Amino acid sequence: MISVLILAGELDELLEMRAVADQIGASVVEALIPEAVIDGESLASLGLKRAYLLEGFDEIPPEGLEKIVIDLVRNSEPGLVIGPSKKIYRELFARTAQNLSSPCLTDCTNLEFNDGRLVVERPFLGGGYVERVAIKKFPALLTIQLTGRRPQAREGGSFETVRVSRPSIENLRLRRVSVEKIERKGADLSKARVVVSVGRGFKRREDLKMAEDLAQLLGAELACSRPIASDLGWMPEEKHVGLSGKWISPQLYIAIGISGQVQHMVGVRNSRIIVAVNNDTSAPIHREADYSVPIDLYQFIPALIKVLKEKGARAA
Ligand SMILES: Cc1cc2nc3c(=O)[nH]c(=O)nc-3n(C[C@H](O)[C@H](O)[C@H](O)COP(=O)(O)OP(=O)(O)OC[C@H]3O[C@@H](n4cnc5c(N)ncnc54)[C@H](O)[C@@H]3O)c2cc1C
Repeated sequence: MISVLILAGELDELLEMRAVADQIGASVVEALIPEAVIDGESLASLGLKRAYLLEGFDEIPPEGLEKIVIDLVRNSEPGLVIGPSKKIYRELFARTAQNLSSPCLTDCTNLEFNDGRLVVERPFLGGGYVERVAIKKFPALLTIQLTGRRPQAREGGSFETVRVSRPSIENLRLRRVSVEKIERKGADLSKARVVVSVGRGFKRREDLKMAEDLAQLLGAELACSRPIASDLGWMPEEKHVGLSGKWISPQLYIAIGISGQVQHMVGVRNSRIIVAVNNDTSAPIHREADYSVPIDLYQFIPALIKVLKEKGARAA
């Protein structure tokens, strides 16, 4: 049986990582978590052996967390270190693994023991394939895609808590110039029931207002393809879905002006129903959509908004 050290900055992340540890029948589970965010009651039902509490967790850069994780790995000797597939953990785990000469795999979607070997699944060749990798050397550091897993139910139990000292940023090879809090609009995409997503089919930034109005009428969250966030900067980074962004699984995903390249689709395939609005009938998204709307979005969205307003509709 393998022991696991979890890194998580929020309760939802901790629950998912605990579920992954359950899935592989981990023997000892420890977690490095923020001191303030996660309450004792939630922790007690997770069957942890030890919780390491770190003040200001989310303000510490990967360079600062690296030393803490290395010390924990050396002291506790876990078989696995796992954390959510987010930018900070991808960077932190890569750095730490290099320092420990350990294997590191990012964006893992599934873990299981197969003939005594731990086998990890993750997207391969831009998300068009799945690779299965058997881990031969431990400890291994893995970032895991968040998909809403939940741990097995347990009675509340006792566990040890250890306060971890905040590292001094001054000793690192970097200098903090300023800290700016990012205003996040809307709910977390990974929990949304309905998502309206926009792509490069929109000609101007102002045109996104149509999609915002539609999302509001449907009680949906607004998301986007990568170029809308990363290349054009029309929407914040945390709103892009796909291989390098959020992986989501809403009940309804409405993709508007999105071609449906594999790197996009890999992050939305778990949606229950996919609707594609794209006036190019040969766009790949039509092959994966449950409902295809091969119409110009500039005609379709105003018409749909009109109908919804007439019906006074708002999705429950
Ligand atoms: C390593 C790597 C990781 C990546 N990760 C991601 C990721 O996480 N998420 C992601 O989205 N992409 C990702 N990409 C980029 C991905 O390959 C595509 O380039 C991107 O998804 C395309 O975005 P798009 O569909 O908005 O734009 P386009 O491919 O340009 O498609 C725009 C679509 O809009 C349609 N359109 C145009 N005008 C209209 C109109 N008036 N009405 C209706 N439809 C119209 C067009 O027919 C076209 O199909 C990644 C790429 C790489 C290499």
